[in-house]
Amino acid sequence: MKILMSFVFPWITTLIFGGLCILQSQQIKQIRASRDNLIFENGTLSGYIRQIEQGQARLVKKISQAQSFKGRLTLPEVDPSIPAIWPTEGTITSLYGMRRDPFLKTYQFHSGVDIANFKSTDVLATASGRIEYSGKKSGYGNAVVINHGNGYKTLYGHCERLFVARGDKVQKKTLIAAMGSTGRSTGDHLHYEVVFAGEPLDPTMFVE
Ligand SMILES: [Zn+2]
Repeated sequence: MKILMSFVFPWITTLIFGGLCILQSQQIKQIRASRDNLIFENGTLSGYIRQIEQGQARLVKKISQAQSFKGRLTLPEVDPSIPAIWPTEGTITSLYGMRRDPFLKTYQFHSGVDIANFKSTDVLATASGRIEYSGKKSGYGNAVVINHGNGYKTLYGHCERLFVARGDKVQKKTLIAAMGSTGRSTGDHLHYEVVFAGEPLDPTMFVE
């Protein structure tokens, strides 16, 4: 009996161990197969990985193309009829967008930016163009409207004095008015608007 056991036992353990190993390697194979065929964003994971690798190769190609172009590129000259500078110096006291109206005490759309400074601070044209309006303009008080001829207009409101007349040609940075508090205003400031195709846009989008 003792002899029999010492002969059979190693064989049984070898068989069990070997069987477990085969089972394990089959399981690993199954896991690998199911991993590669996982459904991921309307495709298999392996397909998705292939797409990423292809995208990466395309990007590497684009980067090398861009690098070869880099030294040869020059920026186009900035168009002087696009209002891309601030019209005056001062502190921005109200931004473009919805705000609590200082007179109505309700939320109203503010179609420009308010810049406050001392009375008579210089107000400059932010781009070249022709004066479309210069005078009293209801709530805006003394106001200037410049037509820049490319769909853009700019408006300068609440001025103390106006230095331009309708029809005048102005350049970028021409002195057009002096800051004030005329019209619907609570203190010396400039209300500045940038209008494109009749729609007021956020003036801060145009300046650095
Ligand atoms: Zn304003």
